Amino acid sequence: MSKYLSLGKFSFGMGDRFAHQGKAQLQACVLATQLGADVVPVWNKSNREHTFIGTEPASLRAEADAAVKALGWKKPYHVDADHIRLETVDRFIAPSDFFTIDVADTIGKPAAAADVKAFIERHPEFGGQISIPQIRQPLEISRAEVERVANKFLLAVQDAGKIYRHIAKAKGEANFVTEVSMDETDLPQTPPELLIILAALADEKIPLQTIAPKFTGRFNKGVDYVGDLKQFEKEFNEDLAVIAFAVKQYGLPPSLKLSVHSGSDKFSIYEPMRKALKKFNAGVHIKTAGTTWLEELIGLAEAGGDGLEIAKDIYSYAIQHVDEFCAPYATVIDIDKQKLPSAAMVGGWTSQQFVSALRHDQKNPDYNPSFRQLLHVSFKVAAKMGDRYYAALTKHEAVVAKNVTANLLERHMKPLLIGPRKSANNSRRLSAVKA
Ligand SMILES: [Zn+2]
Repeated sequence: MSKYLSLGKFSFGMGDRFAHQGKAQLQACVLATQLGADVVPVWNKSNREHTFIGTEPASLRAEADAAVKALGWKKPYHVDADHIRLETVDRFIAPSDFFTIDVADTIGKPAAAADVKAFIERHPEFGGQISIPQIRQPLEISRAEVERVANKFLLAVQDAGKIYRHIAKAKGEANFVTEVSMDETDLPQTPPELLIILAALADEKIPLQTIAPKFTGRFNKGVDYVGDLKQFEKEFNEDLAVIAFAVKQYGLPPSLKLSVHSGSDKFSIYEPMRKALKKFNAGVHIKTAGTTWLEELIGLAEAGGDGLEIAKDIYSYAIQHVDEFCAPYATVIDIDKQKLPSAAMVGGWTSQQFVSALRHDQKNPDYNPSFRQLLHVSFKVAAKMGDRYYAALTKHEAVVAKNVTANLLERHMKPLLIGPRKSANNSRRLSAVKA
């Protein structure tokens, strides 16, 4: 395996569409670290987000560096070129030190028959039973199954190899973290498929730090997990077992871990994940993004006056363009149009009514997931507002930052990395953050 930059055990991916919340986001990492969860901040922005908002990847690097300097952060941090491909990676190479190589598009396209044959011959361990520590029943992987999986994934893995080598040549192999993502596809990858994929990635000599499979269930944008929690927990545990096994078996980097592209706010899976990570002494990378944009809106609404006006104007525009805004996200949102309040109704709301509908507090009877998801996909409206939106972010920085920090720390990092008991013990200390 070539040289590589390794990623710390627990890392937290944060998206910041409008590049104003870097310090507030980093502050959540500072506080989580003080509570004993050593979390590596990673700022991520996909090519799609840069394109929608009209920003360049270098701006994310500038934001991360500025936040780190302002808060005196001395530990590692990274800038993730999220969901890049060979056609889109070049403008990310200089400013990024973390690359999420997205090969979902090539999944299902068959590799050359000779390559599939060579893969099967190189891996006689498949074609029968494989006993994996911590998985009760041996995995049953027949020759026919290896062939099926190789036909489905080998080309995607070869694609990942090509993109990896392209980046390594331009940047130097020791200078970046490599993630391979397969989440934006139709079907989840099962633990046996993950094992075969990892064997193939090792064959490509990719010094993989994180792999982002598609998990079972729905990971809708900005709202909680929808699916069979027991099944998720079983597969998440098996995936951890498969990774530990593949690291030894195929000489992959010992720091290899799962990356969960959460679509933000998958609160109900955090506890089963935390338990599994503890059981396996495993690390994890969790990627969030849009949750911070929604906290900006919450902060503006909470500020009242012109801030609340902006939040209402964004909703009013969004509700007139529901189909247009939802189309690119059709597979990752579930909006009940009947539950969307009219623009006129929202126009009459107080700060508290707007915040209650939007803030992801499932205990609040006024929380409205349809309202939240529509606003999640409507960030283009704020981008179009331009200076009016940016000026409001600056004017109301304190109330926005408070929401951004508390959201990441209280709803994400604490439940995932710290757990309920310790969190309760520290609640007095943390009330200072909320105030
Ligand atoms: Zn993803």
